[in-house]
Amino acid sequence: MAFTLPALPYAPEALEPHIDKQTMEIHHGKHHQAYVDNLNKAIAGTEHENKSLEELVKNAGSISPAVRNNGGGHWNHSFFWELLSANGGQPSGKLAEAINSAFGSLEALQEKVSTAGATRFGSGWAWVIVKDGKLEVSSTPNQDNPLMDVAEVKGTPILGIDVWEHAYYLKYQNKRPDYLKAIWNVINWSKVAEHYEAAL
Ligand code: MN
Repeated sequence: MAFTLPALPYAPEALEPHIDKQTMEIHHGKHHQAYVDNLNKAIAGTEHENKSLEELVKNAGSISPAVRNNGGGHWNHSFFWELLSANGGQPSGKLAEAINSAFGSLEALQEKVSTAGATRFGSGWAWVIVKDGKLEVSSTPNQDNPLMDVAEVKGTPILGIDVWEHAYYLKYQNKRPDYLKAIWNVINWSKVAEHYEAAL
């Protein structure tokens, strides 16, 4: 069964002024669509055709570069859209406790994630993962993610931030740190909490 592009869970302008409408439309409708199309091409007629996206991603390094890049792209973006919201709120409950115990405060976590994203050379992602029951911050190059067999730091992602230029260039140009500051206004913390509880 071929993979398909999931609909955005909000209107493309919903995250303005932090993420602009045109960026969302191109990012979702063109970039994510291309990962889906190229993933489908890469697995068509192969033994991998009927595997789940999770199964492909976990074994991405041993399947092919096309599955690693496009399967990762499809998984990462599907995860990312759900993590954004115009009314994201604040971490609470168990997630807030885990953040305070691992990093000291929400601000300290945000700074660590923003630094991981800002210092990732070229294209990639910054992550908050659960590893051995604890929260950690990591980053990956290109469309890799912490579920992959090839990841330097493996774990279960609960938050991921796209730091490819296509995620911010129209509004922020070369100022990746400004984008990484703004994005905290639109993080959907209840979705992060859901991922956290599922990861435990
Ligand atoms: Mn992207």
